[in-house]
Order: sequence, then structure tokens, then C-alpha cells
Amino acid sequence: MQLSDQGYRIQGVDVLAIADQFGLPLYVYDADKIIEKIGLLRSSFSGVNLKIKYAAKALTNVSILKLMRQQGVEMDSVSVNEARMGMLAGFEPEQIMFTPSGVSFDEIREAVDLGLQLNVDSLPLLEWVGQTYGSSVSVSIRINPHIAEGGNIKISTGHADSKFGISILQRSAIRALAERYQIPVVGLHIHTGSDFKNANAFLKGAEVLFDLATDYPNLRFIDFGSGFKVAYKDGDHVTDIVDLGAKVSDAFQRFCHQYGRDLELWFEPGKFLVSECGHLLVKTNIVKENPSRTFVAVDSGLNHLIRPMMYDAYHDIKNISNPQGPEHTYTVVGYICETDTFATDRPLPEVRPDDVLSFENAGAYGFSMTSTYNARFRPAEVLVYEETAYLIRQRDTLADLLRGQEIIDFEELTTKLVNAG
Ligand SMILES: *Cc1c(COP(=O)(O)O)cnc(C)c1O
Repeated sequence: MQLSDQGYRIQGVDVLAIADQFGLPLYVYDADKIIEKIGLLRSSFSGVNLKIKYAAKALTNVSILKLMRQQGVEMDSVSVNEARMGMLAGFEPEQIMFTPSGVSFDEIREAVDLGLQLNVDSLPLLEWVGQTYGSSVSVSIRINPHIAEGGNIKISTGHADSKFGISILQRSAIRALAERYQIPVVGLHIHTGSDFKNANAFLKGAEVLFDLATDYPNLRFIDFGSGFKVAYKDGDHVTDIVDLGAKVSDAFQRFCHQYGRDLELWFEPGKFLVSECGHLLVKTNIVKENPSRTFVAVDSGLNHLIRPMMYDAYHDIKNISNPQGPEHTYTVVGYICETDTFATDRPLPEVRPDDVLSFENAGAYGFSMTSTYNARFRPAEVLVYEETAYLIRQRDTLADLLRGQEIIDFEELTTKLVNAG
């Protein structure tokens, strides 16, 4: 989104006009931003067979999945339903990695029946796969390398106490199971959580997998997961993708040489591909001046964007209907009957009732974490593609909130019971 003399624009399309056309609150995504990120990731790696597996949980709209596919990106899923959406978007099942964490064997069976690439997250699951399928289903193994890096403890998944992956200390147990059941191990995987600041964490993880790879002569790929840090405000430290690409490419080439074969190098970015593309547009309901603070209450809340409340995430806010207004300090809150503060003491151009605000970097884990709490509708979603805004999901309606509810008629029931008695 760019500010010009004619206001805020996405690919030249006026954002306020989009808000008028589709109503508020509204998620708006910029396809060009996604395409730019894919290009940046690709161009940062050289001399390796890179595959990008978009982590669909970040933003799961089928039109977004189709855009990824059109751009030659494949998919990582954490549930069978996500994978089914990917198949609806046109992905072949074998292009979809299934990385479950603690799901039921029934769901694993469904994934295998669909033909997804299974990524095994525990020794009991590996044993079950061996007992159930013998040598007929190939797997990738998710390793916990015990590397503590990254930001928030809630999104850090590679440390020793994390629930994710099989500990590298259980290396011999993994191998024993694979040998006992003749399970074809075709991939090794780590996903050490979000928000790495530099290439070192990846390289440390890479060394663990390169060493482990000597146990498995039939590998097809090594998957480095994700955890790229993106900028949420000016001056934020971000993962230097170009530097990371150069260093990891180099290390990977040397590894392939030793291994004796060229393997595929996989990454599974979610946030990196879709965070920046997304804007949550909301309307100001009330500006309330308390003695100590001025509150701005908007027609949205933790039901539409929970990251500020759940992870203390910072989201830049723009007043797009009064960008040149004099600056004041505001605490921006939602309309949910919970404390749902988006931002505390934030300087913004003067906010008036009915002003349109935009929460930036709302593409990843924005819509995909929405709920209908307080019986509120989830927003509509719009994708701007080649200078045109397309509706890719309608706003909820009351019928959506009621769908599936079976309503008991207590009066009729009472009459029946009395008659029967
Ligand atoms: C969530 C997830 C990702 C994506 O993480 P980001 O921080 O959004 O890039 C990648 N791989 C797996 C297995 C995940 O669960």
C-alpha cells in the first residue's frame, strides 16, 4: 500500500474505493507483494534445486493457494482439511507435504489415502506407519535439533522442551524403526519456529540434518521449514534472505557433493510470503477521551486479528482517510467484550469517527485465526490482482452463524413428555 497525492493505493487502485465497494471491516491482499516475495526467495538461492512449500495455515483462502500454484509454489499442510483445500486449488497430492503434530491415526490414514507426502513427528507415529504400511509408504522425518533461537517462546518450536519433532538424541531409535519395518525415508525436516534473525540458526540446523542424512541413502529432499522474520515496523531486524540464500546454497551444494547425489532443498515459508501483502481495513466507531488516554474503538477486535493480543504482535496502523491530519496519541481497541487492545499510546494522524484505519502486515495469521466470538461476522476478503480488486470471500451472514445449529423446541418437547407420562 502506497501513499500518493491521490491517497493510499494498491497497484494503483484506491484503497478507500475498495473499502466503499466491499464494505468494512475488510481484508485486502496485494497479489504483487506475494509474487515479489516468491521472486526474492528464488533469486536468493543459486546452484540448488529449491522447492518452496507455502505453509498454507498462514492464509488459507483457496484463491491465494491458486495464486501460489500459478507461481510454481507447492504446499505444506498441517491438517487434512488444509490439504483438501490445496487439492481444490489444483495441487497434486504428492505436491503437498503433510506435517501433523499429534493428530489421530485416523487422520494420518486419510492423508496416506489421499497420497500426501507424510512428515512424521513422533516415534509412536513412525512405528504405527511401519506396522500399518510396511515399506509401501515413504516418509519424511521431522527432527527437533534442540536449537533455541527465535523470538517469542510461543512461536519457538526447536528448543529441547518443544512438543514438535523427534529429538535428534533419539537418532538411533528412528533408524531402528525405519530398518525394522523397511520404511523408505525420503526426507528430513526441521522447522525450528518463527523469527530467526540470521542465517546461523538455519546453518546450525542444516549441520544436524546433513549429519543425520548419512543414516539414509535414499533421500529425495531436505526441508528447512521456515521461521523467516519479517518487518512489522520501520527499523525491525529482518532475516536477510539474500545472505541466507547464499550461505545455505553453498552449504547445501557441499553436502550434496558428499552425499553423492543432488537432493531437493525445501523451505516452507508462511509469514514471509503473505504477511506484508495483507491489510485489515476497519472503521472508527468512537473516539473516547478519558482523563489519561484517548481511546479509538474500531468495528473489529480479537475476532478478526488476534496477533496483538495473543503474541503481543506489533501491527503498524495507518489512518488512510486522514493521512495528513495532525498527529495525536491513541490507544486503539476493538469492540469485543474482552480487553482487545490493538495498540497502546500509538501516534496517528488525527482519528475522527468513521475514519478508515488499516492494520498492516495482516496477511499471515490474520484471517486464518478469525472467529465468530460475540456472534460477530468474519470480514470479507479481497485480492488485488493485475490492478483489479476481486472478492475472494464474502462477509459472514447470520445464516453462517446459525448453520449447523439444531434448535430444540422445549415447548413442544414438554407437551410430548407430559402426554407420554
Ligand atoms: C507454521 C509452519 C510454517 C510456517 O511458519 P512461518 O513462520 O509462518 O513462516 C512452516 N512449516 C511448518 C511445519 C509450520 O507448522
